[in-house]
Amino acid sequence: MPDDALSTPLQYLKGVGPRRAADLANAGLVTVEDLLYRFPIRYEDRSRLQPIASIKPGTTISITGKVLSCGLRSTRRPGFKIFEALVGDASGALRATWLNQPFLKDVFARGQHVVLFGQSEMRGGGSLQLTNPQYEILDEEDAETIHTGRIVPVYEKTGVVTPKMQRRLVHDALDRLPADLPEQLPDALRLRLGLPARRAALLATHFPPVEASIDVLNRFATPAQQRLIFEEAFLFQTGVLARRLSAEADHKPGAIHVDDRIRESARAVLPFRLTAGQRQALKEIVDDLQRSSPMNRLLQGDVGAGKTIVALLAALVAMENGLQVAFMAPTEILAEQHFANIARLLQPSRFRVALLTGATGTAARREQLAEIASGALHLVVGTHALVEGDVRFSRLGLVVIDEQHRFGVIQRATLREKGLHPDVLVMTATPIPRTLALTLYGDLDVSVIRDLPPGRLPVHTIAKPESRRDDIYAFVKAQLDLGRQAYVIYPLVEESDKIDLKAATEMADHLAHEVFPAYRVGLLHGRMKPGGKDHVMKAFAEGELDVLVATTVVEVGVDVANASVMVVEHAERFGLSQLHQLRGRVGRGVHQSHCCLLYQSPLSEDARGRLRAMTDTTDGFEIAERDLLLRGPGDFFGTRQAGVPTFRTIDLLRDRELLELAQREAAAYMSDVAPTPAATRQLIENWEARFRLIEIG
Ligand code: ADP
Ligand code: MG
Repeated sequence: MPDDALSTPLQYLKGVGPRRAADLANAGLVTVEDLLYRFPIRYEDRSRLQPIASIKPGTTISITGKVLSCGLRSTRRPGFKIFEALVGDASGALRATWLNQPFLKDVFARGQHVVLFGQSEMRGGGSLQLTNPQYEILDEEDAETIHTGRIVPVYEKTGVVTPKMQRRLVHDALDRLPADLPEQLPDALRLRLGLPARRAALLATHFPPVEASIDVLNRFATPAQQRLIFEEAFLFQTGVLARRLSAEADHKPGAIHVDDRIRESARAVLPFRLTAGQRQALKEIVDDLQRSSPMNRLLQGDVGAGKTIVALLAALVAMENGLQVAFMAPTEILAEQHFANIARLLQPSRFRVALLTGATGTAARREQLAEIASGALHLVVGTHALVEGDVRFSRLGLVVIDEQHRFGVIQRATLREKGLHPDVLVMTATPIPRTLALTLYGDLDVSVIRDLPPGRLPVHTIAKPESRRDDIYAFVKAQLDLGRQAYVIYPLVEESDKIDLKAATEMADHLAHEVFPAYRVGLLHGRMKPGGKDHVMKAFAEGELDVLVATTVVEVGVDVANASVMVVEHAERFGLSQLHQLRGRVGRGVHQSHCCLLYQSPLSEDARGRLRAMTDTTDGFEIAERDLLLRGPGDFFGTRQAGVPTFRTIDLLRDRELLELAQREAAAYMSDVAPTPAATRQLIENWEARFRLIEIG
């Protein structure tokens, strides 16, 4: 619900002309609301500015004073310049230096009033200095003002929009807020949780009262800040619930029942006993299938947990009820592998299975499309083209999406646009930390398989510098001599990355001719023709190759139980989740497996953290938590798989507890209010406008 005060364009604020309005828009600030809901990145206590003479070394200080002199200084290192300013107040003077920021000569000038904020340090000769301090230049009229003499909000500099410019605008905007700014939270809820009113919260977040604690502010834990964060989380969650309500009203293509005959037919295809985790997940899925509203479920389970068979049994239930199934994999290799597997398992059944990929010839494709449309084919395996392209099903009842995180945006919306409302089962081996699951998959139900099939041994993992390569090769040879197989993984940042591709190809040659001449070495990469890939993959799976040099195309799903060693080249270049996925290619059989991470020194701090996580644990959930900490939520799925909503005040790591509280409160609120379909639609529209979330699932 737009309200006038907040939807006012920033252009109506004092001192904002068209030019500045454009600058602000480039920084994502268009309305007063944009401005007021962008938190400071931190707060500085400038209420007690220290006299320069009283400063002690090694403390965080903020001072204000006059620039006595300033200028650029060259150093002995060619091209390396230092900008220096001598700043004085009534008590004394202090030197500030900035390394390699020569543009500062156009920012500072003698006689200016400035604020400096930073860590004081002792220089040789007993004088104090600040290195690379934060700075702000004050105008004449700023003298007493909002920029000093108080706890001051510091905003992120975005483009040409400076922290100080923003502070002034925020101050003006807050001045103009009407006393009766409409609330966003239900009053009863707000009072029960003891949250301040909206207007008061905005004021205190940007210009905290004198008694506020700088530490609490910088942890974003004051009541004012918490209220605004909670508000965003609450609005987000009510929208998620509204979407869920509206999806539940969709009609599935046909009812599903399970009886003894169907149970018997499931037992007939099952090659082994399900683990307890698999049984539980299957039960949750089959319960969903039997409901009248479409299933929207995420099946999470670490690599090798055995998700495929669970999905296949669900597919069998759908097919026994006269419905068709689309089974989608992220790559053609995986689609082919799933097809081979599924076709084998369903051999004794009456169901007909087909593989539809880019490699399917035109004539064959035409025939298949006709059989899918007539319902003669029951289960179709392929890539996402299956639901996005021109494939028409006769009665599509279940869509299984494997390794969802590679898809990015397979959208239920796509299905809905085609008038399809099947049950949807999304599978992922990326264990999603709980907070992200709440927000990313808020409208998915989640089943988790936590156990592994019996007899699996944790993969033994080591990280070694490249100088130890020969030892590693010797070890690989020993494993090959025991009859095992090995993967050697080469990073390929982009499938189009020619240099790396060349490196992988040369590596394969080198290994084949110089390192492992007595063994059979194959090469697999994403730019091979589908037929070629298939050939190599099959040869490896059937034990006709001993060593497979591969790029990350083997990352997901590939299943060769006899492979017991993986060597990852340039392990420092891979993300943590990716390394974990890769490692999942070994340890799939009865043999103790090994993963050797070869890295190039020196390691960055982050890379060291990733490798340590890999050698410390094989638990996918712990890996995921560490990855989230190392990378931050924005990068967790990589930008291309973005789907992480753009929050204004929420930090997914910092605000976990508030997010969970908001989720509980939103659920209680929605079940109290029980909105009409029209109100639900309205909620969804507001939500989509605000969060611009890419729909997943
Ligand atoms: P993921 O969950 O990584 O997709 P898969 O479904 O590919 O795992 O299963 C990994 C391997 O474990 C496959 O070879 C599969 O046949 C086998 N498997 C799955 N479940 C069981 C089980 N309950 N008992 C024995 N082997 C199993
Ligand atoms: Mg799998």
